[in-house]
Amino acid sequence: MTDTARRDELAANLAVVRRRIADACAGAGRDADEVSLVVVTKFFPASDVRLLADLGVTDVGENRHQEAQAKAAECADLGLRWHFIGGLQSNKAAAVASYADVVESVDRAKLVGPLSRGAHDRSHEVDVLLQVSLDPPGADNRSGAPAADLADLAHRVEEAGMLRLRGLMAVAPLGEEPDAAFARLAAIRADFLRDHPDATLLSAGMSGDLEPAVTHGATHVRVGSAVLGPRPAVQ
Ligand SMILES: *Cc1c(COP(=O)(O)O)cnc(C)c1O
Repeated sequence: MTDTARRDELAANLAVVRRRIADACAGAGRDADEVSLVVVTKFFPASDVRLLADLGVTDVGENRHQEAQAKAAECADLGLRWHFIGGLQSNKAAAVASYADVVESVDRAKLVGPLSRGAHDRSHEVDVLLQVSLDPPGADNRSGAPAADLADLAHRVEEAGMLRLRGLMAVAPLGEEPDAAFARLAAIRADFLRDHPDATLLSAGMSGDLEPAVTHGATHVRVGSAVLGPRPAVQ
């Protein structure tokens, strides 16, 4: 595909996604500018990131450290905000903090020290979202902290230098209506906000479920395939 054809395709997809966000906001009685779009560019080349920036995208999300690091370096001139949204290993956390502006997937205490060190080495504060699990207790492959761990985790982030606690992130579990999962998330967030009134961000909703996420208070939606097209099946 030529660059122009790809640009047109991305522009058309972006228009659809922005319209969906605006409609969801209208349905929920919220202003459209209350919800920010993070375009998830994982598996797609830096050339797409460049086209997206040209189309007005300001925030991009990546979930694998090596790919994210390379793309962020290649696109350093674009002034984008890089969101790290993937499972994070503690031995990679400092490196992630060297290019990520927002780390959305902080789900255990072990990550806090290395993230803070990485931010310090870069002399740049990093925004942190705590990823909370919406899976049933005992589920395999749980990603995210149990809601009961959030208070301790938040405290550690606030105590660490160079990290700013900004809010929560979650992924709706497979096999449950996203609306029910995001309703649970809204309750967890309401509790969390009582102790952390400034941590107002809520990252929830993807290509398939951004509407219920907006209904339940998302301030950021993370949308990949609805903008970029299907990813390769093997991840
Ligand atoms: C890949 C990914 C997304 C985007 O998913 P789509 O269904 O392609 O929109 C959102 N959030 C996380 C954590 C992801 O890993």
